[in-house]
Amino acid sequence: MTRMFCWTCLCLFVLPVAAEDKPVPSNLPDPATLVTDSAQLPVDKSTWGSLQWLCNDKLSPGALQTVGLAVLLPGQRNPVHFHPNCEEVLYMLSGQGQHTLDGRVVELKAGMTIRIPAGVKHNLINTGKEPIRTVMAFSSGDRKTVFLDQPSTK
Ligand SMILES: [Zn+2]
Repeated sequence: MTRMFCWTCLCLFVLPVAAEDKPVPSNLPDPATLVTDSAQLPVDKSTWGSLQWLCNDKLSPGALQTVGLAVLLPGQRNPVHFHPNCEEVLYMLSGQGQHTLDGRVVELKAGMTIRIPAGVKHNLINTGKEPIRTVMAFSSGDRKTVFLDQPSTK
């Protein structure tokens, strides 16, 4: 909320103004196009685990974010990569592992969240005995990824 001077009466007191709290008119599309159902979406399986995209510009045209679920099997790692056009936020639903960020290592376990800035080389290594399950979010509906190596066991 901002305050502005009352020019009408030239008073010396200020009036509260909440102009930025007003709703902005939107071009809301059909609400049905804003909903996805993970039970109806494909799961991309790989040697290291799986990825499932829940929201992006392809699934929900106009989306400004990408959201997905990932599973990383015990003893596996995903390929080192970076995202040139967006940052990534990863929330650990279960499991434990080591996340690399430009060669530096951060320990992660269930309940932790990590933010990976755009352009930072990273990957996740499952160091536990159970699958890592994560929710991933990206600050673009059209997430770009550049892979720097191949997936393999750690
Ligand atoms: Zn990533």
